[in-house]
Amino acid sequence: MHSYTESEIRKSFINCSKGASQRINIPQDLFSIDWESQIFLSWIDPKSPRTGYVVAETENGLRGLVLEKNPHKGKGGARMCQICLTLHPGSGVSLVSIQRSKSAKDRYNTVGTYLCSDLACSDYTRGKRKPEGIRQMEETVSLDDRMDRTLTNIRGLIQRVADGMGK
Ligand SMILES: [Zn+2]
Repeated sequence: MHSYTESEIRKSFINCSKGASQRINIPQDLFSIDWESQIFLSWIDPKSPRTGYVVAETENGLRGLVLEKNPHKGKGGARMCQICLTLHPGSGVSLVSIQRSKSAKDRYNTVGTYLCSDLACSDYTRGKRKPEGIRQMEETVSLDDRMDRTLTNIRGLIQRVADGMGK
């Protein structure tokens, strides 16, 4: 990724109001990351752990999504993140819902998908982090291809949300 300022990141959110985007909690250490090695930006709201944010470079510029993690039901086996294709045991993957509207009133028009609960898809893709106690799929693709795949998947998710909003 290129590097971005806080106001560029706030402006990138497509599924919340301008006022809400101003109130998003952005951890300050986000700005000291190694931008070049990030596939996309993501963080969990430090004050509201069920809320998360993803921001990616797309063909329509920088675009971000607010997402809501569903409470984990605590059963079932391994699940795969639909963005970075990492397998996690138990609560390592969360069902998230993403509102397809700028207005908080329109809560029923949502997109759902499974994502790494800590939203660290960038790190998992690059092998910087690995879920414990589970074997991953055997992969023959190169690191570059895996990074491209993760980026394509997050862009696809952002586009699915944008499509439902006429963007
Ligand atoms: Zn992931």
